[in-house]
Amino acid sequence: MTTLDDLPLRDELRGMTPYGAPQLDVAVRLNTNENSYPVPDAAVAEMEKSLSAVLRDLNRYPDRDAVALRTDLATYLGHGLTWKDVWAANGSNEIQQQLLQTFAGPGRTALGFTPSYSMHPLLAAGTGTAWVDGRRGEDFELTAEHAVAKVREHRPDLVFLCSPNNPTGTALPLDVVEAVAEAAEGMVIVDEAYAEFARKGTVFALSLLQRYPRLVVTRTMSKAFALAGGRVGYLAANAAVVDAVQLVRLPYHLSAMTQAVARAALAHTDALLSTVDAVKEQRDRIVATLRGWGLPVADSDANFVLFGAPRGDSKGVWQALLDRGVLIRDVGLAGWLRVTAGTPEETSAFLNALEELL
Ligand code: PMP
Repeated sequence: MTTLDDLPLRDELRGMTPYGAPQLDVAVRLNTNENSYPVPDAAVAEMEKSLSAVLRDLNRYPDRDAVALRTDLATYLGHGLTWKDVWAANGSNEIQQQLLQTFAGPGRTALGFTPSYSMHPLLAAGTGTAWVDGRRGEDFELTAEHAVAKVREHRPDLVFLCSPNNPTGTALPLDVVEAVAEAAEGMVIVDEAYAEFARKGTVFALSLLQRYPRLVVTRTMSKAFALAGGRVGYLAANAAVVDAVQLVRLPYHLSAMTQAVARAALAHTDALLSTVDAVKEQRDRIVATLRGWGLPVADSDANFVLFGAPRGDSKGVWQALLDRGVLIRDVGLAGWLRVTAGTPEETSAFLNALEELL
């Protein structure tokens, strides 16, 4: 049988495993930070109408620049942004890959602070970018002093920040983003995939874009907009950054169907975002309940919670929950597990199963 070892694989890809959480058919799936609520009927109806309008025209390529979608996204974000400051692609993963292709790549370096979103180093590897891990502190915190010291030490071409951070759930204070933007000579990417779930008072980096032309915020419709299957992510930055990304994007990368579905979803922003409050309520319920049981729990501004497994047995507890029909995520942090906040019923199923294991 032919294996990868028999193929002339790029050296830096040897021994790597592809990213991916198990996609198992269990009753309660709380492992990939999806929105548990289905797309509301009114939005589905509008998507169907928009799709039937584009299907007949599929003989033609889609709008390569996705101007209408980018205009809708800019309106959603506010902060005086226009479509020229916004770029969209197939998930924020593709956006981040394009940013690495544009501003990093062979001979260049990207810096991140783990534990953080595990796709960042994988995207770096895939684009031939050297990866430097600046690490977070004992309690997963990232201070401005530590982040700036790492930026000065490694002088990376691109820095990844993640706020709220996956898998810890906690947002970064804005002064950390600002300090990194001041210190960095290269691009600074703030991955804000979970921004809409933040607790009151949390501030995000959109307000900094005017001041820092090398700062980029990436967002997604996969989480708050319940559109993970639609594959739409986007960035907001100085218009010159958007121009630069055009040098690497594939022509017509975003299908006419994707653009139509995303625009229909954005036309129903209020209905879609109404699920966010329901999810936050369950997120807060998980945090309070687990803390009540004496388990360590990270503060969460996201739709998921990182918690210390009973007896520190993350592997055993993960399996025991799965045996009880509840799939959560072992993010590879010894002693810790991550659970997505779902519907009240899913959350109850998780809490009841975990309580049995205390
Ligand atoms: N950033 C973070 C921090 C994430 O957790 C995820 C999804 N797991 C993404 C980006 C990618 O999301 P998408 O490609 O669906 O936009």
